[in-house]
Parts: sequence; C-alpha cells; structure tokens
Amino acid sequence: MHEVSLAGGILQLVEDAAQREHFSRVTRLRLEAGALCGVEIGALLFALESLVPGTCLDGSIIDIDEPAASAWCMRCSSTVHIRSRGQACPACGSYQIQPTGGTELRVVDMNVVD
Ligand SMILES: [Zn+2]
Repeated sequence: MHEVSLAGGILQLVEDAAQREHFSRVTRLRLEAGALCGVEIGALLFALESLVPGTCLDGSIIDIDEPAASAWCMRCSSTVHIRSRGQACPACGSYQIQPTGGTELRVVDMNVVD
C-alpha cells in the first residue's frame, strides 16, 4: 500500500529533524494532504500509527488537514477550488480546468519536547 511508504517517509523526516534539532519527542504533528494528492487519510493515519511505537512520534497526536485543491478555470479565467480530479468548475460548470495546487503531502508543523 502506497500510504505505508508515505508514512515511512514522514517518520524519517521527523526523526531527521529530531536529530538535527535535538528534541526527543513530538507531542503533536500536523500534516496537510492536498485533495488531489491521492492519499487515503484513514490509511495514512493507520500506517503512521503502526510505525510510531518506539520512535519520537510515539504517543503524539497526529492531525491531517485536507485542504481543497486549486485549479485554473479557462472559462472563468480565474482560480477555483475543487475537491477531486475530474470535477467541474464550481463557478461555471466547465470541465476545462487545470489543477494547480493541492497535489502535495507535507508536514505543516510539530510541537516538540526535549
Ligand atoms: Zn469556471
């Protein structure tokens, strides 16, 4: 499952930060998974929870935000927000829209203790 390798990548990133910035535990981790990044939030959380025991993320609260994606609508000539690929423009109903954001998975911030 794709989410397991993503979860491993996130854990690696957090552990690298822990070494670099000398903290031992993360109390809260906030992630952002864009509406178009193709990640199943429940599966990602499940994968993270199975990986964290014994790591600096053990016992932390993990929040995953799912911001709406943005797209450029050619008919409106403006940026609109969409929730999934293949969706019509919410303003004019045109399918001539190009996703421009919301395709990434990233760490937003974390609260840490020494
Ligand atoms: Zn439009």
